[in-house]
Amino acid sequence: MREHPLNWLSGHARQRRAAGLRRELRPRSAGEPVLDLAGNDYLGLATDPRVIEGGLAALREWGAGSTGSRLVTGSTTLHAELETELAAFCGYPGGLVFSSGYLANLGVVTALSGPGSLIVSDGANHASLIDACRLSRARVQVVAHNDVLSVDEALAARTERRAMVLTDSVGSVDGDHAALAALHQVARARGALLVVDEAHGLGVCGPGGRGLLAEAGLAGADDVVATVTLSKALGGQGGAVLGPTAVIEHLVDTARGFIFDTGLAPASVGTALAALRVLAAEPERADAVLAAAAAIAEAAGVPAPASAVVSVVLGDPEVAYAAAGDCLARGLRVGCFRPPSVPEGTSRLRLTARATLTPEELDRVRAVLAEVLPGVRGPGASIVAPVG
Ligand code: PMP
Repeated sequence: MREHPLNWLSGHARQRRAAGLRRELRPRSAGEPVLDLAGNDYLGLATDPRVIEGGLAALREWGAGSTGSRLVTGSTTLHAELETELAAFCGYPGGLVFSSGYLANLGVVTALSGPGSLIVSDGANHASLIDACRLSRARVQVVAHNDVLSVDEALAARTERRAMVLTDSVGSVDGDHAALAALHQVARARGALLVVDEAHGLGVCGPGGRGLLAEAGLAGADDVVATVTLSKALGGQGGAVLGPTAVIEHLVDTARGFIFDTGLAPASVGTALAALRVLAAEPERADAVLAAAAAIAEAAGVPAPASAVVSVVLGDPEVAYAAAGDCLARGLRVGCFRPPSVPEGTSRLRLTARATLTPEELDRVRAVLAEVLPGVRGPGASIVAPVG
């Protein structure tokens, strides 16, 4: 008699519980009196009336869904408008919208690599880039975080003709910056494409929030491709690839996450367009989020980051989880990152800044962190400053 096919689940759950790694969905209710420093709404646009109106107008005009793949019925003139404006704003010849940033990453990496090519992937890359590498069937060489020399060596030693260097511009967990100029230099010298995920760069870093590639003068280069998400600084949902028009055309023909996925819902296209226009009209929001991040970092006793992400490493997963719970009990929601999201022994609180945080809200943050953090930074807890 064979056992039930799901019997193994309870054993796995027990192991995760013992390791302090059970995850819990904690539904939040609308309007609850909690100050949120866990989300990625860096510019405060998720609730901006202009952004909401942009979504409502698109919903009324186009309906609830895009009704099909972009290649069948799901590509509206609104999608094209967003692609044109987003690419122009960030400084790229072309853009292609996907239904999430995750899918944009899967799509671009798989379509531009494949068997017989090499991907040199930064060791701290986001899970979506890791999954993209796994799907690509390319040879994948993972190098230490921001280790440009190792990237160069991997590219130089390859036998494959085609190669790609893959990195986040702003670390999703630490909020640090990739050495994009140096990476591009070695990629270009070795005939490799540089693919950069600007999920946490758009709206926050670079001139007027145009991202770190723009800051490095690399946006629009003919051997650089960027991905962005519409779900963080732009406050909505969806993702996009930005790059040379030949890349965009290749993705339309070959990116499976584009071809076989229903197009992004019109309401999300509408909110993204409206949010992009707010960002273009109010570039000071990008500076405001960095100033808020500096204030949060000071309150947490870590150096100011060059992004919206403040990382407070506590070490033990249960300690970090309990600290996040203590913050929530005091009305402050913060992120808690544990393995496998972060390496063993580096469980942490992740606090995100928002351009619209008021002085009173920052005072609340200071008060809560002053109550919670001293108790959890015992002798065993290491505090690692975010880099960059
Ligand atoms: N890249 C990075 C660096 C991210 O942090 C995320 C979101 N957590 C994504 C991609 C995925 O984007 P989305 O949530 O739009 O799918």
